[in-house]
Amino acid sequence: MKTENNLKKKEITSNQNTSYRNFPMVPRVVFGQGSFNQLGDVLLPKRHNSEAPFIFLIDDFFEDKELVGRIPIMFNDEIIFVSAEEEPKTEQVDAIVQRIRETFEESPSGIIGIGGGTLLDLAKAVAILLNNKGKAQDYQGWDLVSKPSLYHVGIPTISGTGAEVSRTTVLLGPEKKLGINSDFTTYDQVILDPDLTITVPKEQWFFTGMDCFIHCIESLNGTYLNAFSQSYGEKALELCIEVFLEDVPIAESRDKLMMASWHGGMSIAYSQVGIAHAMSYGLSYLLGIKHGIGNCLVFQHLEEFYPEGVQLFHRMVKKHSIHLPQGVCANLTQNDFDILVNVALGMEALWENALGKDWKNIMTPERLQEIYQKI
Ligand code: NAD
Ligand code: ZN
Repeated sequence: MKTENNLKKKEITSNQNTSYRNFPMVPRVVFGQGSFNQLGDVLLPKRHNSEAPFIFLIDDFFEDKELVGRIPIMFNDEIIFVSAEEEPKTEQVDAIVQRIRETFEESPSGIIGIGGGTLLDLAKAVAILLNNKGKAQDYQGWDLVSKPSLYHVGIPTISGTGAEVSRTTVLLGPEKKLGINSDFTTYDQVILDPDLTITVPKEQWFFTGMDCFIHCIESLNGTYLNAFSQSYGEKALELCIEVFLEDVPIAESRDKLMMASWHGGMSIAYSQVGIAHAMSYGLSYLLGIKHGIGNCLVFQHLEEFYPEGVQLFHRMVKKHSIHLPQGVCANLTQNDFDILVNVALGMEALWENALGKDWKNIMTPERLQEIYQKI
């Protein structure tokens, strides 16, 4: 009896000492093929008045596409087309915010981001900066945003990043590539219309889809894993395997990948990503390689850390005849490798999640450089 009481007491004490994260979720979501048509109804009650516009930030892929005709423009609402050729930058956010402030006397009613992770992140950042002083780079980090952002709606047109659910917006700043991680980053409303992804080219579909697959593998194999993350991660992984390795009818496959992205994003919200992401950040910082393909370039060489995941990945690459560039790091100097290694090792939480508290003894700079040299 005595032992049992002691045990119980210990458990309660440890619970009291643990501080669990209280993170926000997207409060409203519409899902379904063609649901984009409901955007007008969703926005109507959120309009402050006829002078307070909605600003639509849209991937410029759609500039001459029929989707533009379906945007519920009213009064002085504005559409701004943005290229997703490069990943979003802090100065780009500042420029859009300045343009909006100079064009309109009233604060807008809201920001709507339509596109892939690039546009979804840009729209989140613009919504934050419209309600907070200073520059985007001031808020790169954790919980530096003090005032709620402007009402913002996210509408993904490609599936995988989980940016539609996450509490971060990843920006390339003058000094670092780092997210604005805050409770005010998360979207107020998301519209998930799988039909918007019909036009995604095959390789891009694969690379962005693999971002989701790698989120699952890194979350499920991490030391930070808990039942919350696991429940979302397992579902997302199951959906990725259906989409990329089984013969699911195409429309159903678009539905499933969109939900995989959502669940994958939820899984890492309460855990963390791992080695592929840390190393991909280095590639993006030094060479401008985009997130999805950068993850794939790294992940193919991580079999010693994620044996089952990497095996599945190779099967997926083969099934879809995906060509991964080779020799990407072939001509780099030692100085370049030092930058790659420093940026990657700077992502401490990712390494701790992947390899445990002792990660610095496991992943030395030399070992990390050897992996980069294979890419
Ligand atoms: P993306 O937004 O960079 O777009 C990739 C390409 O696909 C672009 O050429 C774009 O024009 C095109 N595209 C998008 N939708 C299309 C469509 N329906 N039809 C045809 N072409 C289309 O791609 P992504 O992989 O979704 O996003 C990558 C970005 O997401 C990176 O900047 C990365 O840092 C960010 N990211 C953010 C989070 C987060 O939680 N905030 C998570 C992961 C990645
Ligand atoms: Zn990712």
